[in-house]
Amino acid sequence: MSETDLPSRRQSLRGIDFDDNVVVLSFSIARKLYKCPGCYEYIAVGSEHVLVRYFEPDGNTFYQHWHRDCTRTIVRELRGTEKVAPGFERPAGRRRRLPRTR
Ligand SMILES: [Zn+2]
Repeated sequence: MSETDLPSRRQSLRGIDFDDNVVVLSFSIARKLYKCPGCYEYIAVGSEHVLVRYFEPDGNTFYQHWHRDCTRTIVRELRGTEKVAPGFERPAGRRRRLPRTR
């Protein structure tokens, strides 16, 4: 995987992981101190990094902040990876309504 295949200002990446989550990786600038889940080191304020968002099949969403290089391990495990324009990363047609409880 080459450097251009990591998220940049111009493009985000979207793929599906082993748990069928849609994973979106997008370029970001740290506005506060984050801790990277990949290496447990800090991401300095103001530094370029990757925002990783998970859209779970049940409709839940969560996100993490990663170092760019550390996301290579994520990207390697994704399938159907495609490049998407920043701002249009949200997966379409996968949002399920939560079951209504009465
Ligand atoms: Zn890291």
